[in-house]
Amino acid sequence: MKLKSKTNSIFIDGQWRDTDGQKTSTVYNPATLEAITEVAYGGKAETEAAISAATRAFQTWREMTGRERSRILYKAHELMLDDAERLGEILTTEQGKPLKEAIGEVKGAASFLLWYAEEASRAYGEWIPSSKKSKRLLVIPQPVGVVGAITPWNFPASMITRKIGPALAAGCTVVLKPAPETPLSAIEIVKIMEKAGMQKGVVNLVTGDAEAIGNTMLNSKDVRLMTFTGSTEVGKYLMRESADHVKKLSLELGGHAPIVVFDDADIDKAVSLALSSKFRNNGQTCICANRVYVHDSVKDAFHDKLTEKVEQLKIGDGTEEGTDLGPLINEQASHKVQKHLDDAAAKGADVVCGGAKWNGGLDGHFYQPTILSNVTDDMLVMNEETFGPLMPVQVFSDEDAVIDKANDTDYGLAAYIFTEKTSRAIRVSEKLDYGIVGVNDVFPATAEAPFGGIKQSGVGKEGGHHGMDEFLEMKYVSMGID
Ligand code: ADP
Repeated sequence: MKLKSKTNSIFIDGQWRDTDGQKTSTVYNPATLEAITEVAYGGKAETEAAISAATRAFQTWREMTGRERSRILYKAHELMLDDAERLGEILTTEQGKPLKEAIGEVKGAASFLLWYAEEASRAYGEWIPSSKKSKRLLVIPQPVGVVGAITPWNFPASMITRKIGPALAAGCTVVLKPAPETPLSAIEIVKIMEKAGMQKGVVNLVTGDAEAIGNTMLNSKDVRLMTFTGSTEVGKYLMRESADHVKKLSLELGGHAPIVVFDDADIDKAVSLALSSKFRNNGQTCICANRVYVHDSVKDAFHDKLTEKVEQLKIGDGTEEGTDLGPLINEQASHKVQKHLDDAAAKGADVVCGGAKWNGGLDGHFYQPTILSNVTDDMLVMNEETFGPLMPVQVFSDEDAVIDKANDTDYGLAAYIFTEKTSRAIRVSEKLDYGIVGVNDVFPATAEAPFGGIKQSGVGKEGGHHGMDEFLEMKYVSMGID
């Protein structure tokens, strides 16, 4: 993929800012560590200008009908699908995931635009029967206002449309700050919005100094809502700093997903699902399985089949046909995997397969898909988010005990259970302290359903009509009548 040495990446009030003469930062291909391009390194001034543009645009954007707003979102959805292959290539180049996953992500990203194009004209209010004859009570949904959106590098396209789709549908305007590792997908999405006919100032993009951009958003009384996907640490910071202006918040933070394989599970299916859950995007997904509990009576079959499949996974450059695992995003990510592995090994875990960095002639930070057995609850990997291809497997024998273990974490994003018994599926789903439970399913994220965590995994939902509710205020109008 050939890109220009410099790419304009700041879009304010319908204008791309030239990167010439401006401070820039480099975007790298994580598979080769080659520089792909330079993007603008914006900060306070650019963010203030973007917030002003979004504040002005809000006055007209909010006045449009839902149907008028939806036309632009429909168009953007179409444009995104038409260009899915090229967008997928850009995504793989900056993020590393296998091309087929990247194209899948682009299509998934487009699906959020479609869903919220549909929802734009369905922001219903309420007419509440009054207890007094002399009154009429109405609830009118209205857009929150200017939204500050901060997105991560692991899903550079879908995390953006999942936020700006409902925000725009609701009538909000947006200032978007993508992750510094993956600004190129964000630039492409904003270009699509422009091409789809979005009015100036409705969507603004600022790349650069995360702290300066974030703080400018936080310090602005005009930014009424912060929507963020990323680490729990930064999420807590945003939450604290949102207090001064009492901003609304929608936070999708870290997770530590358990998989529980019950004795009545279909083992072939369980192996294949566990594999997809753990190694998709090389383990760099907030809903990736971080730990696996397998019932004693099926442990051997599960273990053998899993090991055989993991050993067949192909590591390499995501653009190469047949690659299952691309690089980790950076050296720090690789260190974390190594730290969790070393800690587990020191505390008595066995490395069943993998267990080392992969050196296949590429400069990126690759790690072998790794299974650990004989893991204990005190190991880091059983408690901290690994965000890499490390899969610890522990054996259990009692349903209540394994539910307790699954719940014994500060996180509460996603949990998975594999069972063929409906009654168990319902019983255990109800007892798991998680925002999302996958029953024989490890791909719960979809445009039409509410995705979100509880506990320290976040607040608010993305997807479904619930995702749009985040960007709406319910105004109550109490009318006295004669
Ligand atoms: P990760 O460690 O996975 O990169 P982060 O939470 O650090 O997760 O990053 C997620 C997003 O938050 C990125 O866009 C990043 O630039 C941004 N970010 C990081 N620190 C801050 C901050 N202090 N204020 C605002 N945004 C931040």
